[in-house]
Amino acid sequence: MTARPELQCTSCGNAIPGPGATHFPCPSCGNATVGRCARCRDQSVMYRCPACGFEGP
Ligand SMILES: [Zn+2]
Ligand SMILES: [Zn+2]
Repeated sequence: MTARPELQCTSCGNAIPGPGATHFPCPSCGNATVGRCARCRDQSVMYRCPACGFEGP
């Protein structure tokens, strides 16, 4: 299996393993995929869109 770049946690850069993790289009620009691993979701780590710089919890 090959890790896909769009399935990395945007906050910590870890590959998203699956259960508990999520990814979604940037709510601001929609041009980039924001990924969140289970740990960053649990800790409400801020993410930053790589395309437009939008930051959210
Ligand atoms: Zn993370
Ligand atoms: Zn964006």
